[in-house]
Amino acid sequence: MSQSRAAVNPCSMCMPLGSVLVFRGIDGCMPLFHGSQGCSTYMRLYLAHHFRESVDIASSALSEKAAVYGGAANLKKGLKNVIKGYSPKAIGLSTTCLAETIGDDVVRTVREFLEEEPDCRSITIIPVSTPSYADSHEEGYSAALLATVKALAERSKPNRKLNLVVGTMISPAEVRYLKRLLGDWAAEFILLPDISRTFDAPISADPPRIPAGGTTLEEIRDTANSLASITVGAWANHRAAGEYLEKEFSVPHYPLPLPIGLKFTDMLMGRIEEITGLHMPEAYEQERGCLLDAIVDAHKLLADVRTAVYGDSEMVLGLLNFMMELGIRPLVAATGGLSKAFEKLAKEIAPEAVVLAGVDFSDIDGEIAAQEIELMVGPFTGRQIARARKIPLLRVGFPNHDRFGASRQSLLGYQGAAGLVDDLANTLLEERERSSERSP
Ligand code: SF4
Repeated sequence: MSQSRAAVNPCSMCMPLGSVLVFRGIDGCMPLFHGSQGCSTYMRLYLAHHFRESVDIASSALSEKAAVYGGAANLKKGLKNVIKGYSPKAIGLSTTCLAETIGDDVVRTVREFLEEEPDCRSITIIPVSTPSYADSHEEGYSAALLATVKALAERSKPNRKLNLVVGTMISPAEVRYLKRLLGDWAAEFILLPDISRTFDAPISADPPRIPAGGTTLEEIRDTANSLASITVGAWANHRAAGEYLEKEFSVPHYPLPLPIGLKFTDMLMGRIEEITGLHMPEAYEQERGCLLDAIVDAHKLLADVRTAVYGDSEMVLGLLNFMMELGIRPLVAATGGLSKAFEKLAKEIAPEAVVLAGVDFSDIDGEIAAQEIELMVGPFTGRQIARARKIPLLRVGFPNHDRFGASRQSLLGYQGAAGLVDDLANTLLEERERSSERSP
C-alpha cells in the first residue's frame, strides 16, 4: 500500500460513481447525488467518455449555506425536480463527500419527503451512503447493490429462477453474454443489474429521458423467491447482496469469480449445471474447445512474458488466473481499493507477483520499473507509464477513454478468453514490430 499521504494519479474512482453503474441497470431508475454539483458533472463526463452514451445524473446542488445549515431542503427540492422532469419508477440516491461530512440524515429526509408528498409514494427511493473518502467505486457499486435488494426484495410465491447477480462492474457486451448464456441454457433467471441496453443503446432521434432497459423492479422484488443466487465477480468481496438474500429469504448463495479464462468459466458453468440440473449447451462445449486451441496456438509467444495487471480487483483476479493458465508471468498485480482478501487471493493465484492494494499509479510505476515488465494489462489510466517506459499496454476494463469499443469489449466466458488470447498475442507482436522498426 502507498506510504504517501497524497494519491498521485489514483487507480480507482469515486464511490458514488460505482453506485450509478448499479442504478443505471434498473428499469426506470434515475441516479441523484446528494452533494455539490461538481461531483455529478465529473462522474457524468467520466461515464460518458467510457460508454460513449449521454449519462444524466441529478444533483441536490448543495451550496455554502447548505453546507453550514444542512442539505435537507435541497434534497427535497432535488427529489421533486427529478420526479417532475424524469417521471422515474425509482431514484437511486447516493451521497457524496460533502453530504457525508456535514452529517445529513438522508434516510430521515426521504421519510419526511414521502410524508409531505403523498403523490410521490409510488416511486421507490433507494438511499445509499457512498462517501468517496471511505473507499473506491467498487465499494460504491457493492453498497448500491445491497441497498437495492434491501429496498425491494420481498417474499411471495417461490419461483424456479436463478438470480445472477453481477457483483462488480462489467461491460454491456458482457451482460449480454451472460444473458445469452442463461437463455441458451433454457434457465429462468433474473440478472441484476442489467446495463446491457442502458449504457449501450441504439441511436435514436428522440431518446427517452431515462434509457430503456434494465432489471425491472418486479424482478428485483422476486429475487427473494428464487432457487438460488450466483454472484459473479465476488471472489474477494462484493458478496453482500447475495448474502442478504440468503440470510433474509433463505435463497442459497454461491459467490464466484468473474468467469475470465478456463477454470473460472468452468466454475460458473459447473455451478449453473448443479443448480438447474441441465447440462452445458453443446455450443459452449465447442467454444471451450476453441479456447483450448487458441491457447495452444499462442503459447510459445505468451510463455514467460513479464506482465503487470491492474484495475478493478475482480477483473485483476480473473486476468491473473488466466495468465497463469497461459504460462504468462504476472509479476505486478495492483488495485486501487483497499482489500485484504484481494491481496491474499492474488498471492495464491500468482505467487511470484508483487501484489498491491490501495495504491496509486506512482506506486504501480515503481514496481513496473523494478520488475522489468514487458506487457501491461489494465484500464487506459496506465498509459502514461506505458508511454514513458515504452511498454505495450492492452486496454481492458474501466475506464477506457482513449479508445473506442469499451461497451463492446467482452472478456467473459470461453469466447471472451479466446479473444483475449488474440489481443495479448497481437499486442506483443505489434510492439516487437515497432521496436524492430525503431532499432537501426
Ligand atoms: S471525491 Fe467526493 S467530492 Fe470529489 S468528486 Fe468524488 S464524491 Fe465528489
